[in-house]
Amino acid sequence: MPAMLEAIRAAARPVALTGAGISAPSGVPTFQTRWRGRPIRDFLGREFCQNDPVGFFEVYCAMEAWCGAPPNAAHLALASHQVPVITQNIDGLHQKAGSGKVIELHGNLRKIYCRACGIETSAAALCADLRPLYAAGNHAAVLRRLACACGGRLDGDVVLYGDAVRGMDEAMALLDGCDLFVVIGTTLTTYPAAMLPDYARRRGARLMMEDRDCVAALTEQEKDAKV
Ligand SMILES: [Zn+2]
Repeated sequence: MPAMLEAIRAAARPVALTGAGISAPSGVPTFQTRWRGRPIRDFLGREFCQNDPVGFFEVYCAMEAWCGAPPNAAHLALASHQVPVITQNIDGLHQKAGSGKVIELHGNLRKIYCRACGIETSAAALCADLRPLYAAGNHAAVLRRLACACGGRLDGDVVLYGDAVRGMDEAMALLDGCDLFVVIGTTLTTYPAAMLPDYARRRGARLMMEDRDCVAALTEQEKDAKV
């Protein structure tokens, strides 16, 4: 059995931090994926979203299609062992795998809300309406669809560059009582998530990291399964 899986089974209160690497085997692209010749992350700034909502939601709807990916064995392993998850991912695959506790530091692609009145709606429904409008080049209709009945403008529930990360207090509270912190599929280049491993270690948690083969780290090999 992989050491990480064994440690999760032995731990009293394990917690996981996950990043893009855990969703890659599901076929979810990363922010390095190119869009119109540039990394998609270049389009995910708050300023761009505010100045060019038509351009922004075209990228958003391309990303919303990622939510259709299936969870893989690594997501399923964390869910079946009931490991609370802190994630940098916005694809919703942990919830789809059945994880009960998921803190989404960077928000999610599923929800759309109005900046003025706060009403929530589904991104899948919005993007289903928008895609044909983009295909037809009807940008005036796109803008009309992005207007809420209250007069405000619809916005994605994703944390953009320039926004504050969410749920850090909740994430740290989770780590206060944890005895094993597994860091999966992230090279921890993004702050403040990158400070969480040190935070957990200072509180006495054992730290394990895997940023390459997330599925192998969390699933039993066939020869072990027979034992
Ligand atoms: Zn509204």
